[in-house]
Amino acid sequence: MLNTSSHQNTARTILVVEDEPDLATAIAQRITANGWTARVASDGASAVRAAKQLKPDLVIMDVMLPVMDGIEATKRIIAERPVPVLMLTARDAESDKVMGLGAGADDYMTKPFSPRELIARCEALLRRVERATIIAKNMENEKVLDFGSLVIDPRQRIVTLNGEQVHLTPTEFDLLATLARKPKTVFKREKLLEEVWDWPDASGTRTVDSHVKALRHKLGSQMIRTAHGVGYAFEPPESDDDTATESEMR
Ligand code: CA
Repeated sequence: MLNTSSHQNTARTILVVEDEPDLATAIAQRITANGWTARVASDGASAVRAAKQLKPDLVIMDVMLPVMDGIEATKRIIAERPVPVLMLTARDAESDKVMGLGAGADDYMTKPFSPRELIARCEALLRRVERATIIAKNMENEKVLDFGSLVIDPRQRIVTLNGEQVHLTPTEFDLLATLARKPKTVFKREKLLEEVWDWPDASGTRTVDSHVKALRHKLGSQMIRTAHGVGYAFEPPESDDDTATESEMR
């Protein structure tokens, strides 16, 4: 869906930071030919200023630059506002790549490179950002989970029980929302660690247990059922909602 040509040609501003005029011009021409807008900065300090003014969708950053090098410029640009950075390293030096990625660059290319490859890498980076934005938007538009006496609003991150707001920690909220999106479905502890904590290490399963304990304390012990030796399931409070139909499709 994201690969349609209309998507690739949407107006994008790309900041090219390169002190070799011929190379800067060549890159800028390629970008323009691809339907994007190119702006050029020829040293690190003016790149930082330009990024602030232009708010580009992507930055192509040479490492070896006058006034301020590309590593420092990248750090400052990202600190100001998150933006994908493709770094250009002059030599095939491992230290440049490591430093570049450490500074917050998302990808790098070693000179000399093919212009076609450069554009392909830019497209890939822009797609990645677009996908992340869509995921965040979907979360924003997520429906309220209404179980009658218990209502979970994922967008506002509010839980009410019998009309009264229950104060949950961010982790408790994420755990409850994860379980409640699939009522009556048993989640393994490892799965919950992965989804809620983004932590696939199975040794941390006791963390899950202690958070479930906290949730039960706040919401009542019936709300979360223990599947012994496996994990937990959300048991919606008695209501005439249509949630039961969905819960049978495991
Ligand atoms: Ca240079």
